[in-house]
Amino acid sequence: MEKEFKNLTVLIVGYNPDADLNLIKKAWKFVKLAHTGQKRLSGEPFASHPLEVAKRLAGWHMDTTTIVAALLHDTIEDGGAKREDIVQEFGDDVARLVDGVTKVTELRLIGTHKQASVENLRKMILAMAKDLRVVFLKLADRLHNMETLSYLSPEKQKENAIETLEVYVPLAERLGMGRVKAQLDDLAFPYVYPDDYKKLVNLSKPYFKRAEEHIKKMKRKILVALSKENVKAEVHGRKKHLYSLWIKLQRPDIDWDFDKIYDIVALRIIVGTVSQCHTALGTVHGLYKPVPHVGLSDFIAQPKPNGYRSIHTKVFGPGGRIVEVQIRTFLMHEEAEYGAAAHWAYSESKSLGASSEVLEKGRGTTSKVSKLPWVKQLLEWQKEISDSEEFLKAVKFDALRHRNFIFSPLGDVYDLPVGATPVDFAYAVHTDLGKSISGAKVDGKMVPLDYKLKSGQVVEIIKSKNEKGPSVKWLNFAATRQAASEINKYLRKREKTR
Ligand code: MN
Repeated sequence: MEKEFKNLTVLIVGYNPDADLNLIKKAWKFVKLAHTGQKRLSGEPFASHPLEVAKRLAGWHMDTTTIVAALLHDTIEDGGAKREDIVQEFGDDVARLVDGVTKVTELRLIGTHKQASVENLRKMILAMAKDLRVVFLKLADRLHNMETLSYLSPEKQKENAIETLEVYVPLAERLGMGRVKAQLDDLAFPYVYPDDYKKLVNLSKPYFKRAEEHIKKMKRKILVALSKENVKAEVHGRKKHLYSLWIKLQRPDIDWDFDKIYDIVALRIIVGTVSQCHTALGTVHGLYKPVPHVGLSDFIAQPKPNGYRSIHTKVFGPGGRIVEVQIRTFLMHEEAEYGAAAHWAYSESKSLGASSEVLEKGRGTTSKVSKLPWVKQLLEWQKEISDSEEFLKAVKFDALRHRNFIFSPLGDVYDLPVGATPVDFAYAVHTDLGKSISGAKVDGKMVPLDYKLKSGQVVEIIKSKNEKGPSVKWLNFAATRQAASEINKYLRKREKTR
């Protein structure tokens, strides 16, 4: 363990030369003392767990406070430490982070009806929205616990894996932390759906192999062509992670036909600048013809609501096989892998005075974590909703579910929950638009107002000449709180004036 701890300090100094190593060493001593004699079910000393958690957070370039809190995160709950000791030895900030993590740990979202856990959830959401480091810590904790899940009883394994898929994966996704999301997905998959997992592993093997051979050929040609354009690039194959492959295979339009999965191994091109992204796109299309209609998504010009940026194109690769190519800068790559953690590390290092050169090469962006739409939304709910049950429902059904990205005809992106309808879309755009709906077009075709929107669709609301006001029937299918409460508000007002 001591060698592992040394490695941790080396890792930290690598990205943060000003880190307070004395405090971190002090925390490590404290942790070993607090967990004296305790072992994990794997047989390892308990302190190896907080050490692993801290290592993951160092991988995300977190600050000294977060690292110290990571080391201490189980010392109150599972070890012999008291909160007062932590406050005294390590300060309020560290104690607050440890508190936050403990609250999340006590929380069980699945099948919970108890007022107490709802109250906990409220606290957790508030703590999260105030300080995202609590979420990063909890995600790192969950990651290591999932990696060591095999030592638990079968019941516990399944329970934890389901909770991971239902709560922590959507959380990571909403924070744009693509790598963590994929890791958690694949760690939970074999425990929640063991038969499908085995089936998929066997069936997918030859397809992965063949796709990788195609990609290898393309990689060589693309690197040569790019060097002629004086573009330095990294090109590699990105294997689709198993859980997302499984989800895709179940789509009715795919129906387990592996030949329809164009990104089972995608080709990823990483370059220095946005203009080199466009050069690379031209180069790729010069070598391999783009597939008409389904081809191009420019998430650089139009980032996804969780901040994801890249250009995706589908081309006819060797042998006429369709291959997806993803093009992005190094900075975009960092953001796609680490999401909010990258943003956070950036804003932090900025206040510590890191040079702009470091920021450009490393992690960073101009957008701030607090601007993430869902964090703002959580804070608004917290203010708005007084009833705990209602709050839990709102959170479970709106924030922690997979979302749909819906486009306006002008190209604005709206982030709506699964099951959202054109009515939800209209109210998301503007309350006044909601009041004057007379019909809706999706991808240019008229649809009924209770139509369930899918990601990527373009929705156009047909307005009535004079404000008709919403219909009480819309309440039967409106999927967002926002639409439902606006409709109710309007109907009540109309009732009064009659
Ligand atoms: Mn833990």
